[in-house]
Amino acid sequence: MENLVQYLKDIFYVISINGVDDAPKLLAYFIPLLIAWTTFKRIKAKAQEKNLAVLRAIEAAGIAEPVSLHPVVDFNKCLGCGTCVTACPEGDVLGIVNDKAMLINSAACIGHGACRAACPQNAIALVFGTAKRGVDIPILTPEFESNIPGIFIAGELGGMGLIRNATNQGRQAIDAIIKRPGIGQGPALDVVIVGAGPAGISSSLAALQKRLRFITIEQDTLGGTVAHYPRGKIIMTSPVELPIYGRVNFRETSKEALINLWTDVTAKTNLKIQYQERMENITKHPDGYVVETNKRRYLTRNILLCIGRRGTPRKLDVPGEEQRKVLYSLSDPEQYRGQHVLVVGGGNSALEAAASIADEPDTTVTLSYRSPKFSRAAPKNLDRIKNLELAGRLRVLMESSVKEIRDDSVSVDHKGELLEMENNSVIVCAGGVLPTPLLKRVGIEVETKYGTA
Ligand SMILES: Cc1cc2nc3c(=O)[nH]c(=O)nc-3n(C[C@H](O)[C@H](O)[C@H](O)COP(=O)(O)OP(=O)(O)OC[C@H]3O[C@@H](n4cnc5c(N)ncnc54)[C@H](O)[C@@H]3O)c2cc1C
Ligand code: SF4
Repeated sequence: MENLVQYLKDIFYVISINGVDDAPKLLAYFIPLLIAWTTFKRIKAKAQEKNLAVLRAIEAAGIAEPVSLHPVVDFNKCLGCGTCVTACPEGDVLGIVNDKAMLINSAACIGHGACRAACPQNAIALVFGTAKRGVDIPILTPEFESNIPGIFIAGELGGMGLIRNATNQGRQAIDAIIKRPGIGQGPALDVVIVGAGPAGISSSLAALQKRLRFITIEQDTLGGTVAHYPRGKIIMTSPVELPIYGRVNFRETSKEALINLWTDVTAKTNLKIQYQERMENITKHPDGYVVETNKRRYLTRNILLCIGRRGTPRKLDVPGEEQRKVLYSLSDPEQYRGQHVLVVGGGNSALEAAASIADEPDTTVTLSYRSPKFSRAAPKNLDRIKNLELAGRLRVLMESSVKEIRDDSVSVDHKGELLEMENNSVIVCAGGVLPTPLLKRVGIEVETKYGTA
């Protein structure tokens, strides 16, 4: 605006010196510029309006509190240049509102930190939690050991997310564990590694390379959080050193390519991971610790927790839930072609799962949610569900709860009426139970962060 005012002043100054003869020439110069300026202002106002709409929708959906590391902008320093907005690999996470950058879609922020690195004004800080919602971060030594000797934490649970950080920390934690007393001696394992996401894979390969006596348990499947990204998700990462395998030179890859790489590496190195095995408790023992899982107990000198922050899926606790057809996440919608599927939950993962299965041919999909209204879902997912429902591709049962799961059917209570439905698969997306109570029970110290680094 200041530039435009100065420009107009210059024009009138020139006219006042040269007389009106030069006025048509100057106006011919001035009018296109004025049009360009007003068009620019209109585009900017429209973009700000769109950003505000995203922000309001995210607030209305109750998902405005960022789950982990996220940026906060110092408005006194911010120039509103938008460099951070374009730097973010996840898209519309930041946006310009009232000429300042703001976190408009906190649910989509995964803590890349590219915004902070890009800001020319040093106006961005990365923090955990907010004034309203504290985030517990375990207190660790630089070697990733907690205050409980022999219990180590690597990856996102320790605060630093991202695939590269988790991979590096998993490897480094094993480097520290081999220096601990008693390694290779007595009946106890050297280490139990819990979780097979990026941190668990890298630490398991490092343990294999160092010939430690170890086991890796995983409640779900290979890849951790990565295995649950939407199909085809582009992953932004940096090259890392994977023990035994060597350097992985990915910068930009897809979810499928990364999972394929890990599958290939585990097969070639003969790394054994015990899937569908969940750690449920840790108790002290004179030789170290006993790790209790849903299958058995392990005596170990050390424990490396690579369990991320998604937690253990919440169960429905209904008869028949133990069947193999009941899953707690969606990996490949195609596998449900020709099936009757019940999806349970009202958050983004439930809505995304129901919509992507309903997009597959010959599926009959029912979405069951206990509340009268979806409260923690992104607007784009709500629109997708509404459109599929209108098109008759999906049935939504609000205020409903699953009563029993049988071989080929399910019973669902819908507002007091018991519905019997044909069923081949059930996908439960009812959120996760975070590991914080277990950590506290074991005595691991955590610091609750309310918007601090
Ligand atoms: C949508 C989305 C997109 C992302 N995009 C990127 C990206 O582009 N680039 C990037 O670098 N990062 C990205 N991230 C972040 C990245 O995925 C995580 O930071 C990373 O996966 C953390 O690795 P981890 O090994 O610490 O934990 P996780 O990957 O979360 O793995 C933990 C594993 O532990 C298992 N587990 C948990 N509890 C137990 C238990 N009690 N017993 C047994 N097993 C257990 C879980 O089942 C899981 O497999 C993204 C995250 C999300 C949600
Ligand atoms: S890059 Fe920095 S100065 Fe530019 S909009 Fe973002 S926070 Fe503001």
